[in-house]
Amino acid sequence: MRKPFIAGNWKMHKTIEEAVALARELGAALDGVAGCDVAVCPPFPALAAVREALAGSVIGLGAQNVHWEEQGAFTGAVSPRMLEGLCDYVIVGHSERRTLFGESDEMVNKKLHAALAHGLKPILCVGENLEQNQAGETAEFVGGQVRAAFDGITAEQARIVTVAYEPLWAIGTGMPATGEGANTIIRGTVRGTLAVLYGDDVAQAIRIQYGGSVKPGNIVEFMAQPEIDGALVGGASLRAADFVAIVKEALRAKK
Ligand code: PEP
Repeated sequence: MRKPFIAGNWKMHKTIEEAVALARELGAALDGVAGCDVAVCPPFPALAAVREALAGSVIGLGAQNVHWEEQGAFTGAVSPRMLEGLCDYVIVGHSERRTLFGESDEMVNKKLHAALAHGLKPILCVGENLEQNQAGETAEFVGGQVRAAFDGITAEQARIVTVAYEPLWAIGTGMPATGEGANTIIRGTVRGTLAVLYGDDVAQAIRIQYGGSVKPGNIVEFMAQPEIDGALVGGASLRAADFVAIVKEALRAKK
């Protein structure tokens, strides 16, 4: 049985003060919640303060990005060594990093290696854009992203990774995939590719989230699907009441 996992990606929102306030609210509201892993991913400047605010809570902490080098002349970048011990998770290959900041599959693969080497649990994002979807290229494209990201990653390491299937056309648009549609891609393409790479046992152990316009009103549709183990939540994770409702509904749906 894969434990459900709900993660919030706060993107480039929240000052340190605002982030701490949201983290405290979430920590209190989710106190004692069990049976579901929960994490929030604030922007870099807020990580240390949010870590303190979440101490003693059930909520884990993640970063939104990481460089693959340990240190050096990489202005503006944050290395995996800097995140080690500061947070538990790190989002790798989010579509906004890929499309707005030019991250290639090769860079995503290097980041995955670096995160794992430093004890961080990656949340690897994959997903097709609207044209690819409409052209029937989803399986080929997403399967290729999965193969490229996991290149050289051992089976033991792969088990630590959470994959987030996030179709680009559903992110921030208010137009989510259907539960059934997401489940089909996750089963056939994401878990299917992982099974080819690592065998069925490992593929069955890896958690796969859906992401894209998840809200309290639609989380049950996704969690009711057998292949969907949780969600990566953007916009709705910025509102405590919505994120708490998503976690509680997710738990209810998987019970
Ligand atoms: C995301 O950024 O990963 C995301 C899924 O955003 P939203 O929930 O706002 O669509």
